[in-house]
Parts: sequence; C-alpha cells; structure tokens
Amino acid sequence: VPPSLDGRPRANELRAEVARIAEELTGQGTPPRLAVVVATEDESTAWYVRSIARAAEKSGLECAISTLSPGSSPEAIRAELARLSADPAVHGVILQTPLPEGAVAADLAAAIDPAKDVDGANPLSLGRLAAGLPAFAPATAEAVVELLDAHRVPLAGRTVAVVGRSTVVGKPLAHLLLGRDATVTVCHSRTADLAAVTRRAEIVVAAAGRIGLITGEHVGEGAIVVDVGTNPTPEGGLAGDVDTASTARRAAAVSPVPGGVGPITTALLLRHTVRAARGARERAV
Ligand code: NAD
Repeated sequence: VPPSLDGRPRANELRAEVARIAEELTGQGTPPRLAVVVATEDESTAWYVRSIARAAEKSGLECAISTLSPGSSPEAIRAELARLSADPAVHGVILQTPLPEGAVAADLAAAIDPAKDVDGANPLSLGRLAAGLPAFAPATAEAVVELLDAHRVPLAGRTVAVVGRSTVVGKPLAHLLLGRDATVTVCHSRTADLAAVTRRAEIVVAAAGRIGLITGEHVGEGAIVVDVGTNPTPEGGLAGDVDTASTARRAAAVSPVPGGVGPITTALLLRHTVRAARGARERAV
C-alpha cells in the first residue's frame, strides 16, 4: 500500500494560524465573520455547511448562515449576496450549491464583493486568477496545491492531468498549477480516451464526482494521485473518485477521502476570511 496523502496535519497547521489571526482581529474590534448563503434543503449540503460553521467557531470566527427558501428566485439570492457584501461586519461571503432550478452559481456570485469572495466564486476572481493577479482562489482548487506542497511534491515542469473542468474545481486548479509551472492537461466527460491521457501524467487529480472513475489502469507507475471527489454513498458514507485498491498497486501515493483535500479546503476558507477581515481593517484605518 503506497503512502496516503493525509491532509489533516496541514489543515491543523492552517487552523492554528487562522485562530491566532482571528484572536488578534477580535482583540482589535474586528471579529472576523463569514456568511454562508444556502438555498437548498439537501441533507448532505446542510451537513457540509454545519461543518464549516463548527470549524469557523472553533477557530474564533463568527459564522452566519442565511437560509433562503429552495424556491428562491435568482433575484432574491442575488439581493442577499449584495446585502452581505455591503455589510461592514461581514468579511467573507460564500454561495453554497446546489441552487434552485434556473439559478447559475457563477452568474449570481458576481454579486459578491471580490474583497469578500473567499471561495473565489465571482467570475472576476477566476479571471484575475487566470491573469496571474491577486485574487481568492476557490478553496478546493487551492487545497489540492496545498496538499501537494505539504507532501513536498514538486510541481514545476511536471505533467498533471486534471480530471474535471468545472468552474469551481477543474478550471481554477488548472490556472493555479500553470502558475506553478506545471504542464497541465484538463480532461472531462467528453475526453476520448481518459486512461491514455491520465496514464501519461506524473500527477493525476480526480475531480469528476464519479465514484471509482479512476482505477489502476488510469495511472502510470509511480504517479501521485489526488482525489477531490466527495460523493455520497448509498450507505450514507462518503466516497472519492478514485478506486483506491487498484490505483494503489501502481501509484506512489494517493490522497484519502475523507481526510485528504477536504480538511484543507475548510481551513483555507477560514484563512481567506481572516485575510479578508484584515484587508477590510487596513482599508478602514
Ligand atoms: P461538476 O459536476 O461540476 O463537474 C464534474 C466534472 O467532471 C465535469 O467537468 C465533467 O466533464 C467531468 N466528468 C464527469 N464524468 C466524467 C468522466 N466519466 N470522465 C471524465 N470526466 C468526467 O463537479 P464539481 O463541482 O467540480 O465537483 C467534482 C467533485 O469534487 C465532486 O465529487 C464534488 O463533490 C467534489 N468536491 C469536493 C470538494 C472538497 O472540498 N473536497 C469541494 C467541491 C467539490
């Protein structure tokens, strides 16, 4: 069995750093505050949002959840995002998916002030990321890079196959990796021969949302495999996109689900929020 790319030690370090900054900001009269907008009754989403709120409170941040009706119109969601963006007591704003039918996350997220866009959901943030300008990156995409850095996996000059081209994970991750001088291939549901592409990569990142999509035949000998998938199983558990048993026979290391990318993602959302709070404070004085 190859070593597991555990994300928890790095997540703990990040959270300790966040707690220090949160305490300092609170002492200065700026308690960092994260707002999460939810417009779904989906159970696994509710669980995820509660876990963010718990993590925030444990690190000394305030977390306010705005629960809108799942029948909310795009206009109502946009208005709530604009209201939170204008509230000086709020430093980070997250729009949680899934959204009501007809609502497009990236479109609505344009109403989030880029200075408070701690999950990099505003298309402006993605554009700045692509242009190499300072911006908040989507926490999940950044978490993949943090996990690889934490395990001292070099990126410069190496080949990476990203499986998934979503606006929240695949695309921003490709830009982050390009910014680190990796050679990136982005695969998706219409990629003709996925295994042929991923097998050639030194690093494979699975972000497709398909249980067991990546098997031993998809990875080259000695590859590093990062599993971003968090797929609910019929038994009520959580499964990644990687079939660990077959992949482990060829890979040099595989990240676990849960316990890999996920804990770092949450810690980065908090780090972005305290940074946003610090930025707001500096602009105010
Ligand atoms: P998505 O559905 O928006 O996008 C999935 C992408 O995978 C698409 O680009 C699609 O083309 C590609 N894809 C689907 N089937 C494929 C196949 N058979 N072969 C190749 N490509 C295929 O999903 P998303 O929001 O990007 O999320 C992806 C996964 O990451 C999900 O499991 C999600 O739960 C998980 N996720 C985890 C975190 C975390 O913090 N760990 C955060 C966000 C998303």
